[in-house]
Amino acid sequence: MDLYEYQGKELFRRVGIPVSDGRLAETPEEARRAAEEIGGPVVVKAQVMTGGRGKAGGVKLADDPADAEAKAKNILGLDINGHVVRRLWIESASDIAKEYYLSVTFDRGAKKPLFMFTTQGGVEIEQVAQENPDALIRLHVDPSEGFQPWVARRLVYGAGVEDPGEQKQIAAIVEKLYRAFVEFDAMLCEINPLIVTPDGEVRALDSKFTVDDNALYTHPDIAEMRDTAAADPLETFAREKGVTYVKLDGEVGICGNGAGLSMSTVDVVAHVGGRPANFCDLGGGGNAEGVVDALEVITRDPQVKSIFFNIFGGITRCDEVARGILEALERLDMSTYPIVVRLDGTNAEEGRKILADAGKENIHPEATMLDGARRAVELAR
Ligand code: GDP
Ligand code: MN
Repeated sequence: MDLYEYQGKELFRRVGIPVSDGRLAETPEEARRAAEEIGGPVVVKAQVMTGGRGKAGGVKLADDPADAEAKAKNILGLDINGHVVRRLWIESASDIAKEYYLSVTFDRGAKKPLFMFTTQGGVEIEQVAQENPDALIRLHVDPSEGFQPWVARRLVYGAGVEDPGEQKQIAAIVEKLYRAFVEFDAMLCEINPLIVTPDGEVRALDSKFTVDDNALYTHPDIAEMRDTAAADPLETFAREKGVTYVKLDGEVGICGNGAGLSMSTVDVVAHVGGRPANFCDLGGGGNAEGVVDALEVITRDPQVKSIFFNIFGGITRCDEVARGILEALERLDMSTYPIVVRLDGTNAEEGRKILADAGKENIHPEATMLDGARRAVELAR
């Protein structure tokens, strides 16, 4: 789960990483009030989960509350890389002498957390890595040793930070960032820019924070930060129903059991010239109720023209899936959807018989995955 800048900064604040005083605003009036409370010049920042907000006009300095209101009016509703701005973060403006970059993420190849630090911050890190690779210091942390103070020193000296005051502050921030990374089960903690003020104070001016979804249940306070309004409404509905679902942009609704089979089904539909409307995994247990839930999610997508059930029964029993499909036909209005069903594995015979006996015109049995995919694509046209 990705966090907004202001949420990441809240977590930074909790571990003691210095950030500017700020307030959230959703209207120009709220932005004005926030600026009044903060006092002095502020910066008005679009809260969208994409980088490059500055370049896109989503970050603006404002001299006073009236100016903050005007800037907020301009930024709210802006489309930044496909993300519409609905929230603003208003924070006390900083004077900037230098912009550095600091992050910690997982290096899956090395199976270790990886720190990256450079004094060439403020721009995108990929650009630094390409144009000036020597300026980017990379350092792994051995998770069995845990964080050691030398890691911070090596980053700071390696990047050529000479001022002792800066060295000390950055080293402390490196250690705290690692603590945030571990404590909050992050996949990425990035500060770009990490600024030095003209007075020599070091502070996080931006935050990019990704928390491991699989650890969210241990952090209910972070789980609550999820912005359901900005998320895809279908995916939100699916999450509420407990259905594993990813929206895609085609016409063939797909339902498999197991992530591997479901992904293969997406591939096969694409292979025979169709466009999958979604990825949907019934999971290992796939009971009738789960099938009804999955179909309720899939049929909420207006792009869906046909549905392809591709079931290989192991723990999942094909008769149970067949019952679920019929149950869904009873409970949901699905008469307009051709449903192609391929059942194989545990109780496949029984499953096919249940469907055949029901005599529903819009159910099309197929024997193989490839034939099923072809049929579903045909029927979507
Ligand atoms: P991003 O473009 O999405 O990465 O957003 P950032 O939060 O990194 O802001 C972009 C740029 O705006 C920064 O690199 C700074 O140069 C500038 N900026 C942000 N906050 C301030 C501030 O408080 N004072 C000044 N002078 N510039 C700021
Ligand atoms: Mn940034």
